[in-house]
Amino acid sequence: MGLNLIMMGAPGAGKGTQAGRLAQERGLPKISTGDMLRDAIREQNPVGLEAKARMDRGELVDDATMIEIVRERLTRPDAKCGFVLDGFPRTVAQAEALDAIMRERNNGPLIIVDVQVPQQELVRRLAMRRICVKCGVNAMPNAASCTNCGGELEQRMDDNQDVVLERLTVYQRATRPVLDYYRERPTFRVVNGSQPPDRVAQELDTMVNDATGGAKSL
Ligand code: ADP
Repeated sequence: MGLNLIMMGAPGAGKGTQAGRLAQERGLPKISTGDMLRDAIREQNPVGLEAKARMDRGELVDDATMIEIVRERLTRPDAKCGFVLDGFPRTVAQAEALDAIMRERNNGPLIIVDVQVPQQELVRRLAMRRICVKCGVNAMPNAASCTNCGGELEQRMDDNQDVVLERLTVYQRATRPVLDYYRERPTFRVVNGSQPPDRVAQELDTMVNDATGGAKSL
């Protein structure tokens, strides 16, 4: 049975960071739809060109495009034994499509983790966030350049204050219902994302072990 994980959480909750750590520890691919879209924009391919304007405004990219991107990504060999999804699903339609994909894969249930952080803390974190121009990773606090590749740091294009507020509104409207869609499942877990990153990672690890134990007896 595969380990199929979804990291949920508002923008700035730290789900990308935690998804990356967990994926590395468990030898699974981290599939971040935000990163995939930003790569597409850098490469100036049609998906990227289409997505850029919406992302710049803090709006969601359309469901059909996102579902196709994820469907294709999940067929690659590295995702055969599971995955850590970050940024998908963001709408109930995406969640329903993912369930259909999971039925086709027939490789264990989804484990859903919601990383919760109060709104005022989210706004503060996003205002401070810097990412690397070259490799796209989040910079360490107060770093002058990227600790991963030495690249220059910049504010992410959608982290300015107006766009942040729009993203949080979109999150409440479109993505919170996804949590309700998953909430009753035995493999749904909540983690307190206000704690230091190491502590969040530790709790997540325990939760995932617990949820996989529970999942085996489904
Ligand atoms: P964050 O969670 O920090 O807001 P992401 O990097 O996950 O940021 O996503 C950035 C932007 O990419 C979103 O605001 C949205 O425009 C687009 N996006 C990413 N994933 C999806 C998705 N599953 N559905 C629709 N749009 C998406």
